[in-house]
Amino acid sequence: SINLKCIQENKKYGLFIFDIDNFKAINDTKGHQEGDRALIKSARILKSIEDNNINVYRFTADEFLVVYAGIDEISKFYSLGEKIISIFDNERISVSGGFSVFPDNSKESNELINFADLAMHNAKKAGKHQLMMFTQEMQSKFLRSEMLKSKMPTAFTKGEFELFFQPQFDISSSKLRGFEALLRWNESVEGLIGPDEFIPLAEENNFILILGEWVLKKAFECQKKWEQKFNFDGIMSINVSPIQLMKEDFVQKLSSLSTECNVNPSNIEIEVTEGIFINETEKAAEILREIKKLGFGISLDDFGTGYSSLKYLQMLPLTTLKIDKSFIQSITSKDGVSENITNSIISMVTKMGIDTIAEGVEKVDQLLILQQLNCKTIQGFLRGKPMDELSVEKFLLGEIKL
Ligand code: C2E
Ligand code: CA
Ligand code: CA
Repeated sequence: SINLKCIQENKKYGLFIFDIDNFKAINDTKGHQEGDRALIKSARILKSIEDNNINVYRFTADEFLVVYAGIDEISKFYSLGEKIISIFDNERISVSGGFSVFPDNSKESNELINFADLAMHNAKKAGKHQLMMFTQEMQSKFLRSEMLKSKMPTAFTKGEFELFFQPQFDISSSKLRGFEALLRWNESVEGLIGPDEFIPLAEENNFILILGEWVLKKAFECQKKWEQKFNFDGIMSINVSPIQLMKEDFVQKLSSLSTECNVNPSNIEIEVTEGIFINETEKAAEILREIKKLGFGISLDDFGTGYSSLKYLQMLPLTTLKIDKSFIQSITSKDGVSENITNSIISMVTKMGIDTIAEGVEKVDQLLILQQLNCKTIQGFLRGKPMDELSVEKFLLGEIKL
């Protein structure tokens, strides 16, 4: 147990947790011997920095606890943490770290450990190989996330999730191309919660599998209904999370659901982000090929934000590429950088027979440039915001103009 011996001395303690990055991957790809070697090395590195004020403990499998005692300035905790990360770097081990401070954050050792652990996990989420100090904000965010996660199942049965639809338009003909289905959560206490907040949480607790299947079914049903009521023959784009896509029965589910709802796969487009290719590139590509074989369209979302690897464009069976709104927002800037990049992307993928959709088009200036660049489709607040089901029906009836 950790002995907080400075309590009387009116000094601070820094409680650090360090965790080896991608430790599981080291074990899985290089073998357990290599994993053990990294652990032994890590223990040796940390032992080497021990002195009167610094104590080191093994915490869990690949987590180490460091206690730095008797400090009066927070900046010294940062220096020690950064120093430890760089010593690990020298041994070619990447670690992430978090720390909490006694008595500022808490006077309880258990709580200090939990706080340091939370800071460390935030460092991982922010891209690993870095140090973070615990903050009260982190804690509130964590508590809100836990609260939202625990509310999901009941919210789902109470029907609090709703699908909205944002129209997409062909630039040259101005005709409706179709809709992107976008999920909303009408939480009874919190009010409307956006998917940017709750989808990542649903991915953490796997509730995305239930939500995602519901989204598919709901979108298919709307597609069918609009086809029957309004002769709608456009495309329904559906976002699919990596966790959902990589689940072994996804293709089978997609196929049986579309049969059950009697929708034509050529009217459906599955939207994925580059996130799916980071770990299991070949497996993800194979799944997409199967989906395409069934006749569904495949759209690569948010292009321009992640790796934007041109390799993906080649190895994936894409039918559509969505250029991220960050590009569109800067497309009118005078330096012309975004315009040039967008131009190259559009002309390259168009030659490959892939459709282009510009996302987040808000201004006429942007539309005019996109038109010049021969971008095929636009989606954005300029032509239409996401609408609920009823509004879409009014729009398809011609009762509301956008
Ligand atoms: P996304 O797939 O990139 O969806 C486009 C987002 O841009 C939507 O945000 C849309 O409302 C917003 N948007 C559209 N036009 C404009 C514009 O002109 N300006 C600006 N500033 N924004 C515009 P939304 O609905 O909040 O969705 C956020 C993200 O949540 C989506 O980004 C998508 O990644 C995720 N998401 C939404 N629905 C689902 C779903 O059913 N399943 C999964 N896995 N993810 C979903
Ligand atoms: Ca999308
Ligand atoms: Ca997008």
